[in-house]
This record gives sequence, structure tokens and C-alpha cells, in this order.
Amino acid sequence: MNSLAKQIAVLGSTGSIGVSALEVIKASGGRLRASVLSAHSRFAQLVEQAQAHRPQYVIASDKAATRFDWSGLPAGTELLVGAEALDEIVSRDCVDIVLAAIVGSAGLQSTWSALESKKTVALANKETLVSAGPMMTRLAHKFGALILPVDSEHSAIFQALQAGQLAEVQRLVLTASGGPFRNLPLEELKTVTVSEALEHPIWNMGPKITVDSATMMNKALEIIEARWLFGVEADQISVVIHPQSIVHSLVEFIDGSVVAQMSPPDMRLPIQYALNYPDRTPGIAKRLDWSQAFALEFEPPDPERFPALQLGYECARAGGTSGAVLSAANEAAVGAFLGGELHFTEIVPACRSILDAHNFNANPTLNQLVEIDRWAREEISNWVCI
Ligand code: NAD
Ligand code: MG
Repeated sequence: MNSLAKQIAVLGSTGSIGVSALEVIKASGGRLRASVLSAHSRFAQLVEQAQAHRPQYVIASDKAATRFDWSGLPAGTELLVGAEALDEIVSRDCVDIVLAAIVGSAGLQSTWSALESKKTVALANKETLVSAGPMMTRLAHKFGALILPVDSEHSAIFQALQAGQLAEVQRLVLTASGGPFRNLPLEELKTVTVSEALEHPIWNMGPKITVDSATMMNKALEIIEARWLFGVEADQISVVIHPQSIVHSLVEFIDGSVVAQMSPPDMRLPIQYALNYPDRTPGIAKRLDWSQAFALEFEPPDPERFPALQLGYECARAGGTSGAVLSAANEAAVGAFLGGELHFTEIVPACRSILDAHNFNANPTLNQLVEIDRWAREEISNWVCI
């Protein structure tokens, strides 16, 4: 083993981001090593990953893990069971970088612990910044810990920002593919099925974020994520539909220059950039083919088709508990949609109504955020109607 290898805790290693991250680590020629892997279910896949990567620890966060046969784990890999193990492991010496790739608010506590332990966090879990953005960025500042974006748009902005000073930024422009329903007649949206919503035209991702892309809630969450990650005002963030997903986002500077980051849609590139930062290394991500003609299109999003965007702006302006309420209500609503209990077109109105009804707190503690998250999820049950 290369003793200079950066040791990575891949939290959520069985997910779409986690699997891509392990491909990046495998192809790194020993620069990167997976020292911790974690999964909530799919334990057989976790064992296979452990056989291939020989981590020091695997964490199975769901207690059902106690009934699984773990005899396939390689010698030298220790099994830890339960969500608490995630929070504890990130402070160990065997971890240099925590790749936060757990989906939803389940990823909050381990990201928090990683920052408190002064670890660099490569952040895919956008829900963490949406729910607790100001607290997370304050914590990172206090402990001198780095948060490096893995979300492709935020990685693009992070890279483009290196062309100027933050004070010289006019606006950040987030690109959105528009998802599978960009051109569907509005009246047909109500009857959209789960399998149609899970057919993303460009990206192959986990189910929650795929539905979020179809409603554009993903972009709403990314507006909030960008607001806290880069410390800009909500009104300095624009969204543009770019169906090819080659320009991953742009920064417009005060002189009118616009700097973009481009590459084929492949999450292995932003993951690799974050894990190797500040270096760039050769990698396995797809490359643009300059010998072929290709076109890039941009168009403004239709607010009637994508009402979620408005919610994103409102929460980015309001701060406080609003992001946590939106994120939790949406997570529960998407769960209900995937379970066949809510229509596609009810996801955003349900979030709107729960956001409007909530007891706003401008300066919540972490416990208050956890409590309001629970409340917002329960409120979704009033919407379940099919
Ligand atoms: P996924 O559903 O494919 O994987 C989720 C991972 O989290 C799995 O390993 C699962 O075992 C684990 N997990 C689920 N529930 C858990 C719980 N309660 N406790 C602990 N672990 C749990 O999701 P994904 O698409 O890989 O997305 C992961 C995160 O990255 C999300 O926050 C998503 O918004 C963000 N993200 C994903 C992409 C993408 O291309 N997939 C792009 C940008 C950002
Ligand atoms: Mg994104």
C-alpha cells in the first residue's frame, strides 16, 4: 500500500456516487485509498466492495445488518453496525477525506462530525447544506475544515471561481438538464408514473435525486446549496436549462466575462477533482470529442412547469429553518410518490404548503433542525391520498 495515499471514507459506497467514487479510487494508481465503506442496505454489494478495496472498516448503518452473514469480509476489515458508527469513524486517523454520499438528511450527522474533526469533506449530500447551510459553513470555518463540492454544478462553479475574486462575481448560473418532462404537455404531468420519472435523459443516479431532477426540486436544492457554499445572495443565482449537460455551470464576473466548466456528463470527474484537490490528475471520466460537431443550447426555465424553483429562491433568501423544512418535506413526498401514494404533481404543492405552515426560526440549533425535519416528514402524511 502507498503510505502517502489519501485515505477516503466513502459514506454511501453502494449508491450511484459511491460506486463512481470507488471507480475513481481504483483508477488512481495508488494516490487514493478507500479506508472506510458504508451502506444502509445491499450488504452483499458492500462485501463485494470490501473484497475489491480491502478497507479498514465497513459500516452497515441499518440494524438489520446483525442478521446478515458477514463471513465474506476480507481478513483485516472490521465490521461496525449502526448509524452511530458513521459519526464516530470519521474522526479516526485512517480518514483524510470524507466523501459524504449518503442520500438525504441521514447524511447530516456524519458530515457534521467530519467537520468537527477537521476532516476535508467532499460533499455530494446536498441535503446537508440545504438543511443546515449556515451552521455547516460556520463549523468548517471554525475548525479550518474544507468543504469541497461534488455536485457537478457546484464543482463547476468552484473551478470557475478560480478565474477571479468572490467580490468580482456578478452571478452564478446553474445549468439544469430539464429532466424527462421538459417538453411534456403540462396537462400530462399529473399522470406521470414512477418509471417515467425514473427515466432521466442524461444522468444515471439514485431514485431520490432522479425524481428531484424531474420536478426541478434538485435545482431548487442546488440554489440553496450554492447560496451557503459560496456565500452569495439568492438573487445572484440564476438557473438556465441546458439539455446537453456539457456546461456544468457558469460564473459571470462584474466585467461581463462568463467562465464555464465543460465536460461530458460523468460524475467521476467532479468526484475525482474533489478527492485530488488542489491537484488535477489524469482520470477515467469521459472526454469531449472535439473532432465531432456538437451544439450547446440554453433556455430560461418555465416557472409554470417548474414551480419548485420559486421554493428554492424563497428558502435561499429566508435561511433559518426553511431549507430543512423544504428538504425534509420533499424527501418524504418523493418517498410517497415512489411508493405510489402521491401524484407527481402533488410533490411541489405539498412542500409549498408545509413550508408556509411551519414555525419559522431564523437561528435554529442542530436539535431544532432535527425536530423540524421530523415534523415536516409527518406533515406529508396529510397529503397521502391515492
Ligand atoms: P443512492 O440512493 O444511489 O445511494 C445512497 C447511498 O446512501 C447508499 O449507499 C445507501 O446505502 C446510503 N443510505 C441510504 N439511506 C441511508 C441511511 N438512512 N443511513 C445511512 N446510509 C444511507 O444516492 P445517490 O444518487 O448516490 O446520491 C447520494 C447523494 O449525492 C444525494 O444527496 C444526492 O443528492 C447527491 N448527488 C448525487 C448525484 C448523482 O449523480 N447520483 C449527483 C449530485 C449529487
Ligand atoms: Mg447537481
